[in-house]
Amino acid sequence: FEVPIAVNEPVKSYAPGSPERKEVLETYKKMYDSKVEVPLFINGKEVKTGDTATMSPPHDHKHVLGTYHKATKKNVEEAIETALEARKKWAAMPWEQRAGIFLRAAELIAGPYRAKINAATMLAQSKNIYQAEIDAACELIDFLRFNVQFMTEIYAEQPESTSANWNRIEYRPLEGFIYAITPFNFTAIAGNLPASAALMGNVVLWKPSDSQVYSAKVVLDVFIEAGVPAGVINMVMGDPVMITDTVLASPDFSGIHFTGSTNVFKDIWQKIGTNIHNYKTYPRIVGETGGKDFIVAHKSSNPKQVATAMSRGAFEFQGQKCSAASRCYISESIWKDVKNDVVADISSFKMGSPEDMGNFITAVIHEGSFDKLVKYIDAAKKDKNAEIIAGGNYDKSTGYFIEPTVIVVKDPKYTTMCTELFGPVLTVYVFEDSKWEETLHLVDETSEYGLTGAVFSEDRYALEQAVKILENAAGNFYINDKPTGAVVGQQPFGGARASGTNDKAGSKLNLYRWISPRMVKETF
Ligand code: GLU
Repeated sequence: FEVPIAVNEPVKSYAPGSPERKEVLETYKKMYDSKVEVPLFINGKEVKTGDTATMSPPHDHKHVLGTYHKATKKNVEEAIETALEARKKWAAMPWEQRAGIFLRAAELIAGPYRAKINAATMLAQSKNIYQAEIDAACELIDFLRFNVQFMTEIYAEQPESTSANWNRIEYRPLEGFIYAITPFNFTAIAGNLPASAALMGNVVLWKPSDSQVYSAKVVLDVFIEAGVPAGVINMVMGDPVMITDTVLASPDFSGIHFTGSTNVFKDIWQKIGTNIHNYKTYPRIVGETGGKDFIVAHKSSNPKQVATAMSRGAFEFQGQKCSAASRCYISESIWKDVKNDVVADISSFKMGSPEDMGNFITAVIHEGSFDKLVKYIDAAKKDKNAEIIAGGNYDKSTGYFIEPTVIVVKDPKYTTMCTELFGPVLTVYVFEDSKWEETLHLVDETSEYGLTGAVFSEDRYALEQAVKILENAAGNFYINDKPTGAVVGQQPFGGARASGTNDKAGSKLNLYRWISPRMVKETF
């Protein structure tokens, strides 16, 4: 059998007057008022616990979109049991059937669910339509299609045989179940973390972020409609520590597929270590965590190009991508031009509800994030060593709105140059033209992270120096381009250091982690 060759889903433009614009706006309006109730999903059934929390759009936080139910310890244990039961059939199912289910899921999103999944992402995560489209529609479709293709490529990898021995590898799923924890910032990741493990024959317990439940429910509906059998993907919400501790206490826990904060991931890793004697197998630990992503521009680089990378790379989705640029190092002789262009570009950005499609900037995810960002902005306002050249205003009366803010600092180790902020704040340090090499070392040493980074230079030698010195500073390294917007099948995504296990989402490398191969030698 051969599966269809994976192709990237074309991005729709949502231009004024286009049918897709009309459809997504109508869907958004309908969903805004249709109070949703999201139950847990265990063994193919909805479970309502009565212990609920509300969901609101970050750009309109007084409005209630609906509620979701929170799990008890018993619900989590039951989900694990039913998953293990479902594993018996799912792991034995021919891979073509699993492929068919997830390819169908991709086509459901490409067609009938597209407006709904985008509108849900606009409402729950405050993405503008373009950011929703490249995430919830295109990237999720791409993950599903490409992973099916990668799976078949992996299965085709077989050792040599002779006329006396037939050597074959059976690409078995892990023995046990996988725990998927997904972050608020990408609906595509919400879909990919459970789906990639399930595609390889595993059963999954999935805990979406509290701020993502609304759109995660649409992803779940797609999986159910596509034919994922009962018990294969179970979804639970609620107290994250209780859920994680219950999962990690199970002897059948066999792996975690995680995207979220560095501290939470390290805590989980430590708990896995503490429980290691209880497990039947060594759990696979796969995680993508934080970032402090950089742009470094040589004096030879094109100022306009650098400025665009800064304003887009730092402020798309309010800077809440793990890949977002948050610290910049700009050569002195181009700074004036770069500064003018960045400030002009940012002042053209409109801010407000995603319902108005002219808005590039919408709200940050929640009050906790808003308050934290404001603290850093206010500190910079008071600090004579920091100058705010764009933005700096904020307002949380209706939504958590913060203007895209650019801070220029004299000290390259200023707090906002080093600390992950996860929001629309970009810090810039201007370096002397003669200090290129020194600056590259500074970039490398300033942060514990290693996710994305971009270097700008028209000088090949300077570029090669950056490639070498920043070898471990970014798992996704961009030359003369912004550090965000990795495309599945084109730029597999992930980083090392404090940014994760670098198991590259959207690639074969990731799928290899969800199999436990059996080597069979048969002698004739
Ligand atoms: N893959 C996304 C990008 O390249 C970022 C994913 C994330 O934020 O975790 O922009």
